[in-house]
Amino acid sequence: MSDVEKLWELQSVLTQLNDRERQMSVKPDAFAAIDSEYQRSNEEMVRLQGQLDQMGKERRRVDGELSDQQELLKKYQGQLMQVKNQQQYAAAWKEIDATRKHVKELEESELKNMTDADVVQKQLDDRKAGYDDLQRRYDEAHEQWQHSLGDLRQEADELRKRAEMIEAGIPERLRNEFHRIYKQRQQIAVARVERDTCSACRTRVRPALAQQLKRGEVGHCEGCHRILYMEGRTQS
Ligand SMILES: [Zn+2]
Repeated sequence: MSDVEKLWELQSVLTQLNDRERQMSVKPDAFAAIDSEYQRSNEEMVRLQGQLDQMGKERRRVDGELSDQQELLKKYQGQLMQVKNQQQYAAAWKEIDATRKHVKELEESELKNMTDADVVQKQLDDRKAGYDDLQRRYDEAHEQWQHSLGDLRQEADELRKRAEMIEAGIPERLRNEFHRIYKQRQQIAVARVERDTCSACRTRVRPALAQQLKRGEVGHCEGCHRILYMEGRTQS
């Protein structure tokens, strides 16, 4: 096998390896569907719990204000006993009236808070009830995906080993050149010549260069500077 043939072989092994690695990085549809349902459900539960916490906080705040207002009410009612004239009496009643109104508002707000919290708690409970089943389905799909990756992983390992073996048989200078072009040119260092044209960039291969390639020598595309590979060259 000539050096160019080895480079071509290396290119095709690395292309297959890239393909496996890309496949391994993509979630299969079956898993992606359950994964997004799972993530949504988790986010929703966090959101509901956050809402409940916020409501609890608000309820404690209203509780505090309510007991303050009830203390105040007692104070005004005490004052009512000590009024000395009609004017003071009217003023004390005005305070009591306003405070009672405020207490009523706070009580109503607390009641609404509790009713709302019940609704949210029910939503959260429903989510939690279905969660074990969702978790089981998620685990199953994940397991299946990982299992299917096992084959791909094995293939990728084998391809990596093959690439190493091929590389070991390529002169260092050429190997370095291959990797330099590979990095610079979208992971294609070697391009096949098809009908006297570079298959990567469609630049025409001049006859002199074609002759060189036919002799099994290393030649570069004048357009994209990739190493050219010509199939079925005459044996030298
Ligand atoms: Zn080219």
